[in-house]
Amino acid sequence: MAEPKQVSLDKMWKYVKGFAEKSGTTMHPTPAVTEAVVKGLAMHMDELGKPLCPCNFYKDKQAEAKLRRWMCACDEMQIYKYCHCLLFVREDGLPITEYLPDGHEGREIYGVVTDPTPDKGRALKHKASAAPASLGETPESSASTS
Ligand code: SF4
Repeated sequence: MAEPKQVSLDKMWKYVKGFAEKSGTTMHPTPAVTEAVVKGLAMHMDELGKPLCPCNFYKDKQAEAKLRRWMCACDEMQIYKYCHCLLFVREDGLPITEYLPDGHEGREIYGVVTDPTPDKGRALKHKASAAPASLGETPESSASTS
């Protein structure tokens, strides 16, 4: 199995640690979860030059990489503080879902998971009302990071 370049891994680890701090989230309590997602991000850095979310299926990665919505930290994270990769979560390992619109898959799977640090993160929360329609056009997400 291909491995990302060390420089990409280092860059993504630095970014992930910094963003977790900035957004008031933590990395998953199971280190293998975080390692798999960071590796996926680093692989995309090598392949595309951008940290495209590794937990979606894309029909055209190159085209998707030109858009902002699934660059880590993606629109869902910046608007709703929800990370379906489980990279940025609460200390108990659950993703924050309290800001998601009704009917979103995160709500269906996890129910309402409250945000322990509401004063941090959500830099694009002003887009929350317009987001469901645009996010509805996004690639399929999956629980797998492979
Ligand atoms: S869901 Fe968003 S925040 Fe989480 S790893 Fe993917 S791009 Fe990053």
